[in-house]
Amino acid sequence: MTTVLEATDLWKSFDDHAVLRGISFELARNEVVAVIGPSGSGKSTLLRCLNLLEPIDDGVIRLGGDDISDPRVDANRVRARFGIVFQHYNLFPHLSVLDNVTLASRVVGRMSRRDADARGVDLLARVGLADKAHDHPDRLSGGQQQRVAIARAIATDPEVILLDEITSALDPELVGEVLELVRTLAVDGATILMATHEMAFARDVATRVLFLDGGIVVEEGPPSQVFGAPREARTREFLARFT
Ligand code: ADP
Ligand code: MG
Repeated sequence: MTTVLEATDLWKSFDDHAVLRGISFELARNEVVAVIGPSGSGKSTLLRCLNLLEPIDDGVIRLGGDDISDPRVDANRVRARFGIVFQHYNLFPHLSVLDNVTLASRVVGRMSRRDADARGVDLLARVGLADKAHDHPDRLSGGQQQRVAIARAIATDPEVILLDEITSALDPELVGEVLELVRTLAVDGATILMATHEMAFARDVATRVLFLDGGIVVEEGPPSQVFGAPREARTREFLARFT
């Protein structure tokens, strides 16, 4: 098993509120790790710290063996090694769907527009939206917009895909199409860390589950164990809300 991402004893506070209190975990190549936990438990903060959108106070983050928590690293270059999708699609409203998907390849990857467009069209076909390439995002449903955001996140062949509750803002009837796409990425071998409240999906697709509460990893294990036979009382209490 090759470790792609390794977090060691991450600490993060906002003012005097300690949100991450010594988080450690590893993500191996082709793994899909689900981060579950109550609202406010630090899931988004963890994902944002990992790709350097938020500075950590203490700890070490390694990506592909490189210490990316070293303050001397070029944060933009590190961020290009991750794909991230947020709860709210955060597409650029003034750009076409295709330009949303190709922008990073053209700017960060320095691809020509022609090459980037060809690849963008392939990516849109992969997420089932080839016919929407020249529309603006506001013409698309929430589920379609989130699929564009996923296409954008994978356009630069990231080493790790971070998904932050990407179905939480969607109407219930649109959740399935987005989860199915994530399942396809997982089957195709993507390395994924996803914060989610979709417990059935996590149970089905994740290789491992981390239960976060109060800024620490309370419990970690295969989904069969964390969902089927949780060891910690806090995990049991949390999961009881979903049944
Ligand atoms: P989750 O994603 O698990 O719901 P978050 O990581 O969003 O949790 O938030 C964890 C805690 O950190 C919350 O109490 C939240 O209010 C706080 N927090 C998150 N971001 C900031 C910020 N930029 N400034 C101050 N507090 C923040
Ligand atoms: Mg969150």
